[in-house]
Amino acid sequence: TTDSKTIPATLIAGDGIGPEIVESVTEILDTVGAPFVWDRQLAGMAGVDAVNDPLPKQTIESIRRTGLALKGPLTTPVGGGFKSINVTLRQEFGLFANLRPTKTIIPGGRFDDIDLVLFRENLEGYYAAMEHYIPVGDDPKGIALSSGFNSRAECRRIVKFAFEYAVKNNRKTVTIVHKANILKLLTGLFLEEGRKVAEEYKGRIEFNERIVDACAMQLVINPWQFDVIVTTNLFGDILSDLTAGLVGGLGMAPGANIGEKAAVFEAVHGSAPDIAGKGIANPLALLLAAVMMLRHVNRNDLADRIDAGIKKVITNGTVRTKDLGGNATTKDLTAALKQAVA
Ligand code: NAD
Repeated sequence: TTDSKTIPATLIAGDGIGPEIVESVTEILDTVGAPFVWDRQLAGMAGVDAVNDPLPKQTIESIRRTGLALKGPLTTPVGGGFKSINVTLRQEFGLFANLRPTKTIIPGGRFDDIDLVLFRENLEGYYAAMEHYIPVGDDPKGIALSSGFNSRAECRRIVKFAFEYAVKNNRKTVTIVHKANILKLLTGLFLEEGRKVAEEYKGRIEFNERIVDACAMQLVINPWQFDVIVTTNLFGDILSDLTAGLVGGLGMAPGANIGEKAAVFEAVHGSAPDIAGKGIANPLALLLAAVMMLRHVNRNDLADRIDAGIKKVITNGTVRTKDLGGNATTKDLTAALKQAVA
């Protein structure tokens, strides 16, 4: 292809299967002439090994410069007192929206024709992790207490973001998921702001509200009724794994963390240490994240081409990795995908 590379972006290979799937994805991006100029940086155990820091300053500086990153899965260092990498990234770059699209790619699974998008608020709620114990009698940990917070401004921002996404992507309905019947203030404020935002889109985007427990059941019984879902941090964490399960699990699930100063794209799965180095990892989740990244920089043309290539290879069914019931290697699948998108 003749497209020139003009968009600087940070590339983090990550740990475990990270380098294998990142190599696969960058090869496929090159095949379609994607515009990214990669600034390769370290994070995770690779960062700890190199500079004793799971999120080195240089990596943060790179993302600050590019505002755009594709990130392989990172192994969370156990012990050592390191701060969570994902939490640091979210706070550093104000990544307030976690976006998880769920789309059926492999036909004949439990659910066909699923196509929904879930937005999870990424900065507030119970993830503030303000916790402590209260002693009871001689038990110093007799009661565990946790408090969360939601700010009106943040509730408004995430719901507005979901509605704007719906408008731009020809979606019809936004469903706000809450538990305002019990957590009357914490999620009541979210619902209150959500309703106000919905009013601004009246006549353009339909609006529904669901209580989270009912929503979980309905996602399993009739997921086709949902289009765009927006919810608070903890509910979004749980429901987005549920929706990934509707379409073949974590190996097919991409995600994006979007903020004012940066956007970070990744696979939902982890570094899969059990299969690292064996050459059998499925690169599709990270490839789907790269497709989201192309759409983020308005290269829907290239994103559509890769989407079509994935569909072709997967529905053909002869080249699938082990997690998808086949025996193809990462390299086999990469070669088939490169041929399909060329
Ligand atoms: P995992 O997602 O790495 O693995 C769970 C299972 O799914 C394993 O059997 C693995 O082999 C399989 N699997 C995952 N991705 C696959 C792929 N692309 N192809 C084929 N099989 C795949 O979850 P885990 O084992 O709980 O976590 C391992 C490490 O990853 C931990 O250190 C964890 O903290 C970290 N983690 C990182 C992220 C991230 O960086 N976004 C997310 C989740 C977990």
